Amino acid sequence: MTTEIYLDGNATTAVLPAAIAAAADAMGQRYGNPSSSHGTGLQAKVLLDQARACAIRLLGVGDGRLMFNSGATEGIQTAVLSALVALRERRERGEAIGSLLVYGATEHKAVPESLAHWNRLLGLNLTLQKLPVDQDGAHDLAQLRALAPQAALVCTMAANNETGVITDLAAIEAVLAETGTAAYWLVDCVQALGKLDLNLAATRIDYAPFSGHKLYAPKGVGMLYVRAGAPFTPLIMGGGQESGQRSGTENMAGIAALGVVLAALERGDTFRSHHQLASYRARLAESLRAALPGVVFNNPFDKSLPTTLNFSVPGLSSRELMDVFDAAQVRVSSGSACSAAKAAPSYVLDAMHAPLWRSAGAIRMSFGPLADEATINDACRRIERCGAALRASCLIPSERTAVPHDGLLQLGAEGACSWLVLDAASRSCIVIDPLPEMTERIESYVRCQNYQVRAIVSTRADADRGVLIDALGRHFDHHAVTDAYGWPAAAATIKLGARTLASVADGAACHYLLGVADGDTLAPHAVRFAFSARPAVDALRPLTCAQTLLCPTRDEHNQFCVGMAAPANAGAPSDMQLDSAALDAFLQAHPDAQLIDVREPYEFAATAAPGPGGRQALSVPLGRLAEHASDWLRGERAPLVFFCRSGNRSQKAAQLLRRLGHAQAYSLGGGLALAPLAKAA
Ligand code: PLP
Repeated sequence: MTTEIYLDGNATTAVLPAAIAAAADAMGQRYGNPSSSHGTGLQAKVLLDQARACAIRLLGVGDGRLMFNSGATEGIQTAVLSALVALRERRERGEAIGSLLVYGATEHKAVPESLAHWNRLLGLNLTLQKLPVDQDGAHDLAQLRALAPQAALVCTMAANNETGVITDLAAIEAVLAETGTAAYWLVDCVQALGKLDLNLAATRIDYAPFSGHKLYAPKGVGMLYVRAGAPFTPLIMGGGQESGQRSGTENMAGIAALGVVLAALERGDTFRSHHQLASYRARLAESLRAALPGVVFNNPFDKSLPTTLNFSVPGLSSRELMDVFDAAQVRVSSGSACSAAKAAPSYVLDAMHAPLWRSAGAIRMSFGPLADEATINDACRRIERCGAALRASCLIPSERTAVPHDGLLQLGAEGACSWLVLDAASRSCIVIDPLPEMTERIESYVRCQNYQVRAIVSTRADADRGVLIDALGRHFDHHAVTDAYGWPAAAATIKLGARTLASVADGAACHYLLGVADGDTLAPHAVRFAFSARPAVDALRPLTCAQTLLCPTRDEHNQFCVGMAAPANAGAPSDMQLDSAALDAFLQAHPDAQLIDVREPYEFAATAAPGPGGRQALSVPLGRLAEHASDWLRGERAPLVFFCRSGNRSQKAAQLLRRLGHAQAYSLGGGLALAPLAKAA
């Protein structure tokens, strides 16, 4: 099986094997409740005390408090609650308090969300005030100086989770001292643990939350440091555990595991040095520069954790980059983990004044201090493969001319779509209904394929073809005389290699028919595809045949195309999903079944293994589905098993084929994420 390379360490990490062993021991052997006074309880108490003592030494806790909890989100709640309760009490006593809750513009959402929540619940009505950062992600110290006298609480993270940008805590401390503010200071140290030296009691920091799962301990365990003398209010009351600071029986498995990680940090024999980590980052950056021309790094390396790279590539969305890396089994994230599902612009990069294309297209690549040379080298090789896959798909410019594509291609955007008819032999193509938002994609595709655009036609007379015509430059004959639909004047048909395109005027619209003509006439039985802005089935029926596929230029529901015959039941038949456990048996029972990978061609090309079940798969991305559907429906109708990464795209493909009357179209449920790939080729 191709092994995955996990480069998403800022989201979470695997658990250190010694920490897993310690957790298993805390659950299996030393399972006692540390509050019990019998021997079994005392054994557990030793574990707890050892882990705490280690944390106290390592973080320089001094006389401060160090409590275990469920993670940083809880630590942040406790810190905010503690500070705000103290502020309310001071105000009730008639003391003057600041009016602002100041937080860095790039803080993890847990901070501003907690501030807003507790501010409201406690009825404090203080003002939340974002502290801006500069283009390197550094806090604006002049603004802090101006705000500090009115600040009640200041929150600044030690290192940012998306960019790894390190905060100059000494400079912030100096500003707080110089302004004489009485504000409390919370520093989210989640990303700093194991990567930056901390000596907390030697600073003015009042609260410092930590999280185990960002540094090889399990999820659900964390720590909170509270400076000696800083106000404290427990978030959770009950049995008085953690010296009454955090009730609830301790998560001993988590604490034992975290204790092992902290001990390893203290010994200094397990994790890589800053220098080694920085050299790994440099190697990854070099591979990214070579594979993805124009890549821009969004974080200043000299001011960031050596384990984080954040980059954007001109012309590529974060979705496309995520997909190609995922296909190569390199796990990265777009923006922060919580917003990875939506490709929303990153608020962190927005705050750093990055242009929209960089903030919406950003990819974070992060590794932990356990990373090793062999993994980094392997990651670099896979990055190169991703670059080659993107070049071959014309998504990034290439010196070499790409392998020419042939047939029909659907390019969609927001429910509307353009169609391209491609002829590899003559390196020419026709564009049907160019969408303005597809201009750049069509232009770079045509340029990369080195095609001549024979015609740009529309199904509506008022369509704007000018933007694309201008963009195409020498790839389009600008002197061609056309009618209102872009159809060449006086031409009955347009020949494109063996294919023929004919136009059909229909009131204020125009339809197009594509097929293989006998001479100049395109007989109904030879029409493979009809293009229309509306489901003009009746108008087209006399000119087409039952096998003709009608390709709409609006495709809100991802239907791709419809049959000219009455649609078969459009619902998803219950036997359409194959789960990965049933796949092997299915393939054995159906030796003629064809596996079809409906991911994009660059995802297919970046995958270094055969399809599920070890069988070679055919690459048919959704944009090429109409063309292939037409072939499959005319052929032997062998079983078709579609798959993709998650099962989403393949389900749409199988539904289309079922709708068109192919009874043996299936989708691999859960996709490649659940079906193990066979051994790498
Ligand atoms: N703060 C930062 C900087 C983080 O990266 C995270 C994790 O996503 C958190 C807080 C929340 O930590 P936890 O998952 O332990 O609640």
